[in-house]
Amino acid sequence: MNKPSILVVEDDTAVRNLIATTLKLHDYRYTTASNGAGAILAASSHNPDVVLLDLGLPDMDGVEVIRRLRSWSNMPIIVISARSDDTDKIEALDNGADDYLTKPFSVEELLARLRVTQRRLALMGDGGESVFENGKLKIDYASGCAYIDGEQLHLTPMEYKLLCLLAQHVGKVLTHTFLTQNIWGSSYENDVASLRVFMATLRKKLEKAPDSPQYIQTHIGVGYRMLRVE
Ligand code: CA
Repeated sequence: MNKPSILVVEDDTAVRNLIATTLKLHDYRYTTASNGAGAILAASSHNPDVVLLDLGLPDMDGVEVIRRLRSWSNMPIIVISARSDDTDKIEALDNGADDYLTKPFSVEELLARLRVTQRRLALMGDGGESVFENGKLKIDYASGCAYIDGEQLHLTPMEYKLLCLLAQHVGKVLTHTFLTQNIWGSSYENDVASLRVFMATLRKKLEKAPDSPQYIQTHIGVGYRMLRVE
């Protein structure tokens, strides 16, 4: 499989060069942009497979770049946030970003995120499948049943809905707001608390060792992601 082409959007020259060098070293193709306007132009002219987007840009907010890209494209977007403030990441995810990296990040982290996104890309062709499989997990959408290692999971309707949401977006970080909106149509404090409870009971049934989960990863203060299991 061809390595995907990456659009790197970063105004900090040192960071941009570091990312470019890393990508080059690992045989990725890439183009760069140093501001929001340049990013939108490069995205439409090069149609990259993945966008690495710094949220703090000189000419416009990174979230605005996401909104504009999302108006015509589903290309995966990984945001890079220098700010430790979770609200930026969450806003970016809620506006359609797929994943995030927090500065300072290591080269290994960057490559790991790209691999996750590549696996997602490889899966994107098979939408509309009636059966979802990931490691030992299997969901049969037609019958509304989920199995682990061939054994049926006895899930409540809410747990099943939650599992399906995570599965449909496997590899992507889903925010608390996204999940509660999709489950209850609202996002009150209570809903987030309920979400935690349902997630805990779902994990108890799904994960062999709920303390070191294999399928569902927690992003503290942000949300959850279903991992692709080999
Ligand atoms: Ca910046």
